[in-house]
Amino acid sequence: MSSSVKPYPDTQIYIDGAWRAGAKTIAVIDPATEAEIGRLSLASEQDLSDAASAAERAFREWRKVSPLERSKLMRRAAQLLRDRADDIAAIMTREQGKPFGEAKLETLAGGDTIDWFAEEGRRTYGRVIPSRSDAVRQIVTREPVGPVAAFTPWNFPLNQAVRKVSAALASGCTVVLKGPEETPASCAELVKVFVDAGLPAGVLNLVFGVPAEVSSYLIAHPAIRKISFTGSTPVGKLLASKAGEHMKRATMELGGHAPAIVFADADVPRAAKLLASAKFRNAGQVCISPTRFMVEDAAYDEFVEHFVATARAIKVGNGLEDGVQMGPLANDRRLAAMERLVADAREQGAKVLTGGERVGREGYFFAPTVLTDVPLSARIMNEEPFGPIAPISRFSSYQDAIVEANRLPYGLAAYAYTRSSATSAALSDDVETGMLSINHHGLALPETPFGGVKDSGYGSEGGSEAMEAYLVTKFVTEHR
Ligand code: NAD
Repeated sequence: MSSSVKPYPDTQIYIDGAWRAGAKTIAVIDPATEAEIGRLSLASEQDLSDAASAAERAFREWRKVSPLERSKLMRRAAQLLRDRADDIAAIMTREQGKPFGEAKLETLAGGDTIDWFAEEGRRTYGRVIPSRSDAVRQIVTREPVGPVAAFTPWNFPLNQAVRKVSAALASGCTVVLKGPEETPASCAELVKVFVDAGLPAGVLNLVFGVPAEVSSYLIAHPAIRKISFTGSTPVGKLLASKAGEHMKRATMELGGHAPAIVFADADVPRAAKLLASAKFRNAGQVCISPTRFMVEDAAYDEFVEHFVATARAIKVGNGLEDGVQMGPLANDRRLAAMERLVADAREQGAKVLTGGERVGREGYFFAPTVLTDVPLSARIMNEEPFGPIAPISRFSSYQDAIVEANRLPYGLAAYAYTRSSATSAALSDDVETGMLSINHHGLALPETPFGGVKDSGYGSEGGSEAMEAYLVTKFVTEHR
């Protein structure tokens, strides 16, 4: 990372084709220094009303723009995102903390997501159903559901937003996006690439505010026809119930506590290395992060040794510095949560093999942490850690591993390492999860489904399934 980092920008709200100052501003904090780096404008109720109305007006026109024209515009936006990746990544690192390299990959991946949905929008077909009479024609069409209220979190400030926005725009929907208040500027940069690519006024609006107030207002607003939320399970349940109250369609991408099952026949050093790098990516603040490591008895010692070595070798520091592999946690709530989880596990008899504490006195840094001998009653074995703590346990039989994998109400991601194709096939049937990645880390591509089951939510944010979320079905039957 060069030393010529541009100043961090203040962020405004964007409504009906214009940036606005909003009702008041709050501070944006750099999690590596705890210093205020910028100000964020918050929307008033009038701003929210304007945003919903703008999305409603713009929907009448945007739905009629041909998929080819929508695709061309989106592809221009994708290219702008790539062209600006260095600047956007530096902004993201400053507000979120992740290493510059991770932030840049996230930005470039955003371009791929936009491109993919731009193309998929051109392949949204209806069908003709053979009728019971020669005189009757039966047609099924797919139409955009309408203006969308999308709520996105701070862990992937750009990527969480780009999935929802791209699928919605490609389907012909308009959007009011409530971005993450703690990491707003990189999300605003995403909006700017669409604006600069020529998106008409009102098609994409960006607001920030007090999350509960914004969601209550937008979900109830008659113009809004669809809700999409990424965040914690308790908040998702609340928003899903509000959506139900107003009969709004909803996609809920919620928390997880992903089992990572390593069998003795696996390439154990490789499994340890891949799982550790997945675990500590973005300081563990990833909904699909592997979080409950379960290793078959015969491989346990070897796995722990390699995993701990990888964790100890991770360079922690300010994400703008060269060579840093893990930045600070994104906010002080996560730091406090890590301290609570480790203290609780220790009290219940867990061993801390590495880490276990805050790093330094400034910034929300927490050491990559490995715990063993953690009882199932410990909070870390039940709550989504959303931070750099890896509890490793052991199992003796396939059946024990499955029981533990399925023990929690979550079902987002799961990982397994084995050389046995019979074990792989059995796992595909037996693990209660929305996504299962075997012998590699292969989740979260634009073209593959992304979503959970059970308390991890419903709906998909990847693959052709993601378009479904923004479409409604219309059946037309005609007697000639
Ligand atoms: P939180 O539960 O308060 O917030 C999580 C997200 O939901 C934030 O983006 C927040 O702005 C939003 N939110 C909260 N209340 C809302 C409401 N009433 N209406 C609309 N949006 C609302 O907690 P937090 O401290 O920000 O994060 C902690 C937990 O959230 C983590 O432990 C993790 O489980 C979960 N989380 C999950 C993801 C994900 O990718 N699935 C991302 C961020 C946070």
